[in-house]
Amino acid sequence: MSIQNEYLNGLMERVVKRDPAEPEFHQAVREVLTSLAPVANARPELIREGVMDCLVEPERTIKFRVPWEDDKGNIHVNRGFRVQFNSAIGPYKGGLRFHPSVNESIIKFLGFEQTFKNSLTGLPIGGGKGGSDFDPKGKSDAEVMRFCQSFMNELFKYIGPDTDVPAGDIGVGAREIGYLFGQYKRLSNEFTGVLTGKGLTYGGSLARKEATGYGLCYLADCLLKDGGKGFEGSTVVISGSGNVAIYACEKATQLGGKVVAMSDSNGYVYDKDGIDLPLIQQIKEIERGRIKEYAQRKAGAEYHEGCVNIWNVPCDIALPCATQNELPLEGAKALIQNGCFAVVEGANMPSTPDAMDALQEAGVLFAPSKAANAGGVAVSALEMSQNSMRFSWTFQEVDDRLKTIMTDLYHNAAQAAERFGMAGNLVAGANIAGFLKVADSMLAYGLV
Ligand code: NDP
Repeated sequence: MSIQNEYLNGLMERVVKRDPAEPEFHQAVREVLTSLAPVANARPELIREGVMDCLVEPERTIKFRVPWEDDKGNIHVNRGFRVQFNSAIGPYKGGLRFHPSVNESIIKFLGFEQTFKNSLTGLPIGGGKGGSDFDPKGKSDAEVMRFCQSFMNELFKYIGPDTDVPAGDIGVGAREIGYLFGQYKRLSNEFTGVLTGKGLTYGGSLARKEATGYGLCYLADCLLKDGGKGFEGSTVVISGSGNVAIYACEKATQLGGKVVAMSDSNGYVYDKDGIDLPLIQQIKEIERGRIKEYAQRKAGAEYHEGCVNIWNVPCDIALPCATQNELPLEGAKALIQNGCFAVVEGANMPSTPDAMDALQEAGVLFAPSKAANAGGVAVSALEMSQNSMRFSWTFQEVDDRLKTIMTDLYHNAAQAAERFGMAGNLVAGANIAGFLKVADSMLAYGLV
């Protein structure tokens, strides 16, 4: 789809020309600018005052080397990033990703998306993202600890509980957050809520671990109900088997769905009887193993090499929860052909643009990641509130707040789409609703 505003078209061209080697960032910006064209047409001051130009440029990008020593005494040097994208409505907030694929384009796209997502939660948090091309897979705990400490030795200069509050993402779970938080505390001589996703013994929030997956299903439930459908009696396919996928599986099952397939970056398992979640958790969370072991231990389950083929498994509801661009056009076509009626994105930008277009054109109910996976950051913001109050809410209290946030978010996005003549288009609605709060704050500051 093209951008229906001449100025925004030119802006898109400038974004590509300025950083030609950043395809993921271009993809994220193009999707948002396409949705924002009707808003820019209705409110020309947003262009005149430079809001649109500022929106696509991070406030600050920090890039640093991370030297660390392995167990054999060899020295390795990785690259660290923190993109502080937009602080118009609160301190920068967004996860850290440790994965060999990490580069500036990926961190910029994630930070850009995070700005709108955080705004959509209704909570006072700006957008940021960071990470490293370090691969925690196959490393000992001691190696991961040394890497995290070295990473924090540099990052700590730029973050703080009222400045920038990182969290986890791919490859950064409870273990990594513990090492990072410990090093920050050591360096700063302060015990503050500078990271979220912390362990429960040192300031973490109940329900944070579950928040993204649960929130995804709460939003999916709203979308399904509006479309006259539901989880009850539905067959569900979930890609990934990490933090988001595991708790999406738990909640989808609680809501009456049957999850029949999950994956990792090597392949997927199909279990016609429904995925045995405790077994997945044992393999992935405790043993840090591969998903193919599931089929070796569970009678009747099949393992298939190649994660992208998971979309060929017939289902009613698909929840892509692994990584960006993991659901290509061929996958979308297979889902449509097999009668899938809803795709709700748990990972960030998992559908390629042509896949997203095909799903929407086929009338599949579709919720984009910046709306659907906002539950994680929402509960991270609740963790910040609890840290500030030096107080903890119960699991039930946090979960209730999460449900309310996701329900409100869904309705706000749906109403924004309707207001700008795109009823039913949650992609546009989420982009517009997330944008307006940030844009109006930027205008109020007179900083552009
Ligand atoms: P984890 O590291 O816990 O899990 C990632 C999962 O995705 C693993 O199963 C991994 O498999 C799989 N995976 C990674 N790369 C690929 C690939 N190229 N193809 C197929 N599978 C792949 O990460 P999270 O669950 O935390 O994050 C998943 C997604 O959700 C990311 O896009 C993240 O940005 C997004 N997200 C996460 C939030 C959170 O709270 N954690 C909040 C909002 C969004 P393997 O083990 O083989 O690497």
